[in-house]
Amino acid sequence: MNESKDFLRLKVDEDLKSGKYKEVITRFPPEPNGFPHIGHAKSICINFGIARDYNGHCNLRMDDTNPTKEDTKYVEALKDAVEWLGFDYGENCCFTSDYFPKLYDYAVQLIKMGKAYVDSLNEDDMREFRGTVKEAGKRSIYAQRSVEENLELFEKMKNGEFKDGEHVLRAKIDMSAANMKMRDPLLYRIRHAHHFRAGDDWCIYPMYDFAHCLSDYIEGVSHSICTLEFENNRAIYDWVLNELNLQLPRPYQYEFARLGINYTVMSKRKLLELVEGDYVHGWDDPRLPTIAGYKRRGYTPESILNFCDQIGIAKANSMVDVSQLEFCIRDDLNKKVPRVMCVLDPVKVSIENYDGSEKIEASYYPHDVPKEGNRKLPFSREIYIERDDFNENPPKGYFRLTPEQPVRLKHAYILTCKEVIKDDNGNVIEIKAEYHPDSKSGSDTSGIKVKSAIQWVDAKKAKQIEVRLYDRLYKNESPEGLEDLNPNSLHVNKNALIEPAVIEEKPDERFQFERQGYFYADPIDYTNEKPVFNKIVGLKDSWGKKATSNKPTPKQVAKKVQIDGEIAPMSEEQEALFAKYTKNLGLNNEIANILARDEQLSSFYEEALLVISSPISLANIVTNEVGRELKKESELKFNAKQIAELVKMIDDATISSKIAKQVFEEMITSGENPEVIVEAKGLVQISDPAQIEPIIDEVIKNNPENIAKFKAGNTKLLGFFVGQVLKSTGGKANPAVVNKLVAGRLKDV
Ligand code: ATP
Ligand code: MG
Repeated sequence: MNESKDFLRLKVDEDLKSGKYKEVITRFPPEPNGFPHIGHAKSICINFGIARDYNGHCNLRMDDTNPTKEDTKYVEALKDAVEWLGFDYGENCCFTSDYFPKLYDYAVQLIKMGKAYVDSLNEDDMREFRGTVKEAGKRSIYAQRSVEENLELFEKMKNGEFKDGEHVLRAKIDMSAANMKMRDPLLYRIRHAHHFRAGDDWCIYPMYDFAHCLSDYIEGVSHSICTLEFENNRAIYDWVLNELNLQLPRPYQYEFARLGINYTVMSKRKLLELVEGDYVHGWDDPRLPTIAGYKRRGYTPESILNFCDQIGIAKANSMVDVSQLEFCIRDDLNKKVPRVMCVLDPVKVSIENYDGSEKIEASYYPHDVPKEGNRKLPFSREIYIERDDFNENPPKGYFRLTPEQPVRLKHAYILTCKEVIKDDNGNVIEIKAEYHPDSKSGSDTSGIKVKSAIQWVDAKKAKQIEVRLYDRLYKNESPEGLEDLNPNSLHVNKNALIEPAVIEEKPDERFQFERQGYFYADPIDYTNEKPVFNKIVGLKDSWGKKATSNKPTPKQVAKKVQIDGEIAPMSEEQEALFAKYTKNLGLNNEIANILARDEQLSSFYEEALLVISSPISLANIVTNEVGRELKKESELKFNAKQIAELVKMIDDATISSKIAKQVFEEMITSGENPEVIVEAKGLVQISDPAQIEPIIDEVIKNNPENIAKFKAGNTKLLGFFVGQVLKSTGGKANPAVVNKLVAGRLKDV
């Protein structure tokens, strides 16, 4: 737990101190209409966490008042999520549907008090009568019905004598209340539908605003904690309990901010769409932000709990970076799981001066982990290494095997490349090599210097496995719908090779595959004959390794410096860079600060500057786009020269900066040159007036109303027209040119 208490716990402290409650009772009240997601995990942590901290109790309550969408499979998933996260809801979970008879009685009581009435307006009238934020509403004529008539109608509603929508029960509060929710809210509606628990007993169902407060009261809840969107419903919550004059102590509602995570959708409706449309493989697809998905992917409960603790409880909605969640799982597994060797894209190495075979003893854990356990690595004349770990034409800074540069085989010997064998297409199919007998790990007397150690497996003894590599489900940061899905979110590799002990001894469920990431033996599809592993998360990225803290992005670091006002001192070199960037190159302080403090970014920037002297545009793209990628990936597919070329294309107006973002996204995945991408996709910017004019004509023709408004003096609409034209060209038109042309044309209309 964070040392300082959050506002909810402070409230609980206060209430216990004043004697308002003797015991803290909370509840987690999901509607069983979908699998719970990471947002629910936050709510679970808050509600169960507070109950636990104060020796109270938290109920798991199914808010099952909407028969058409709910199902027992969701009830089971919710129970499972709570248990998996390590919380205890007691013997039974609760159901709002169990309170239907009591809720009905409370409704009758309100009618008798003249506080509720049966309304028979149709939906349209009802909406109209509600008024607007600026205008008071009008009360329905049916509000004048007598208590007797209301009682009779309500009973008939219950007995199924009316059709869906014919009548509703409403609270009689205030049709001119500033809080629109208080304008005679609905309490009951008619629904002839089968309920998964109550069966066909009921054909009227209570609305959230009526059922929730009373269910809380019935369960003796003290603190009813919900998300911010219910803030305005709090008045109804209090109204119902007050009017019914219920005995003290009563529950009170408190709101906290919903969790939002970038690159993630978190609405059950949208998740259901993905599942039902087969865009993913079920509710437990490891790409989904459902608890079942995280569980299947290999996340630990501890990592989710830590995440919820880190993000804290706030009163203002905010967006959390998905890398923070990834950090939590990495951090949890780093010191827990065995490290083993797996080769995802194997290339054969024949060690020409080695005969026979041996078994090399190696620890599963690094020295700084207090866990023990060894396995034997079979080693012989033929092994496989990762295709990427050999490069005939290495770029600067390449530390692995090349024709000139030896490399260490992790836990084993140093290897030197002797010959490269290729197929007709020039692909490497085999590397002939020599090992150095006196270079064995732990007793190396060879004196040979290597720059890195790579993973390998023995060709004969390695086991073939299936590896499921997951990427983000959505390609953009704030996804809206299906069009934002990342088409490459799942890559199945059936040819990976792993050292035999992992399968034969299976020392754990989760592993670090050296230099690849963390992996989990799939709990459903894994068999000894066909082992399947899910990639949980990649290894800590190189940006993270360098920075003192491995969570925030360079931009966040700069922000933090600003917000906290505590500026970590810069080294001499950093200060020199900062001065150069601000004074000579004209960068603003924030950007210069980010660059100067990050060696990797600044060297990337400097390299790009050699190609094009466009310091400001370059700095922007390097700190934002490149910085973000470096944080995710330890090795970039593109280089500084390509980024310089991208900026060149923006500068000479070949592409707009909007299109540049699109090109950049492509460079991330393909590593292709920007010109090639722009050419292949036809993204060249349109600056020719002859091409743009007809589009302006079209836009003017299609928007007569706005033209009239513009003529009448609403000059702000210039922006609207420019926007429409840009949109029609798919963002390809040159904004400056469009602006000028549109302004010229609108003068004449
Ligand atoms: P969704 O919009 O995803 O369907 P919901 O709010 O309709 O979610 P419920 O099943 O009604 O889902 O929610 C159960 C509890 O979980 C509620 O108290 C709700 O406030 C909380 N909750 C739901 N989503 C989030 C979230 N993103 N962050 C924090 N709490 C959440
Ligand atoms: Mg809901």
